Amino acid sequence: MTLVYNKALNTKIEVNRIIGSIKSDIPGPTLVFFGGIHGNETSGVFALKEVLKSVKKTNIKGTVFAISGNLVALEKHQRFLDEDLNRYWTKENIEAIEGKHVLNIEEQELQELLDVLKSIIKNNQPPFYFIDLHTTSSKTIPFITLSDALINRKFAKQFPVPIVLGIEEYLNGALLSYINQLGYVSLGFESGQHDALLAIKNHVAFIYLALAFSGVIKDKSSINFSAYFKQLQEQSVSALGFFEIVYLYKIQKEDNFKMLNGFKSFQPITKGTKLAINNNKEIQSPYNGSIFMPLYQKKGTDGFFIIKTIAPFFLKLSKVLRGVKIDSVLVLFPGVSWSNKKEGVLQVNLKIARYFAKSFFHILGYRSRTIDRTHLKLSNRERVAKTNMYKNEIWY
Ligand SMILES: [Zn+2]
Repeated sequence: MTLVYNKALNTKIEVNRIIGSIKSDIPGPTLVFFGGIHGNETSGVFALKEVLKSVKKTNIKGTVFAISGNLVALEKHQRFLDEDLNRYWTKENIEAIEGKHVLNIEEQELQELLDVLKSIIKNNQPPFYFIDLHTTSSKTIPFITLSDALINRKFAKQFPVPIVLGIEEYLNGALLSYINQLGYVSLGFESGQHDALLAIKNHVAFIYLALAFSGVIKDKSSINFSAYFKQLQEQSVSALGFFEIVYLYKIQKEDNFKMLNGFKSFQPITKGTKLAINNNKEIQSPYNGSIFMPLYQKKGTDGFFIIKTIAPFFLKLSKVLRGVKIDSVLVLFPGVSWSNKKEGVLQVNLKIARYFAKSFFHILGYRSRTIDRTHLKLSNRERVAKTNMYKNEIWY
């Protein structure tokens, strides 16, 4: 048992790795929630416990799981102890952990979570949905983050909150990036500021909507559906739609970084806006856009992001282009070749990559990551997405 504290409620609850699960006698989808991958973000854990207590087995089909993330960090109410568990899910790291005898705290947590994940996928029915619940150190309206596969976009569009694409291009090793590589629908949900009561309420609302949208809840009238929908919608009216990350201010280990007070996610900023002080130097925004996830806590290396809205025209265009797999043509260009066709990984000579706009690759579903001085490695979400698993679902 782990004792988890929430400041807004000033209460402690006891949880295990599996916070709760409900399995219906009627076959149906499998919906998996994670809370507290970051140990200081306890509102997801509280919300999951509350919702699972009140959902009746007779009102659902399929299976629901609620899972605790970093148990040791949750007990200590810290983001992490040795390493950030949500930057740890890379292929290399997982392979390395499997060969180790002595594990640090987060390596052990990862290993346990991986076992739970494998057993859920093995013993339950598709379609699978994975949702990771978080909060932020700054004030924010609730929002979704996702890896840019069309199945993720389509499922996410049902929720009345802004959707931010492309975070995986900046953050290595997020749990959801790993699950995305497996091809399943997976969304991150940030409900509000860490210790705000509203963060718990928003998590509760989002969990219920996810139960309804995935088809796990048989009849929407058995839950307070429209009230939960309205609750999230009212907070998000100013920023609905799709956003793309265009910039991240990365903090180095020896830096003395301080965000200036008063910024909240989705707040519009202009080029030149003073945002932070780092090593006594003033940091200004290099772009017009909106500020996103400014860092107001000690732990963490992502100072702030800048996001921009994506025009609906480009969203449609990318849907069409991905549908015809136009990326097969890309490898005909000089300097572009498959690094791994099955996993949808392209390799682009950096000299050539300069001639393609980044957004061109984004439209085709590729997200970039530099591997060395000469080549850019681009992964395509569509080629690994298990799209057929979801084709008969109502939302598709
Ligand atoms: Zn988090």
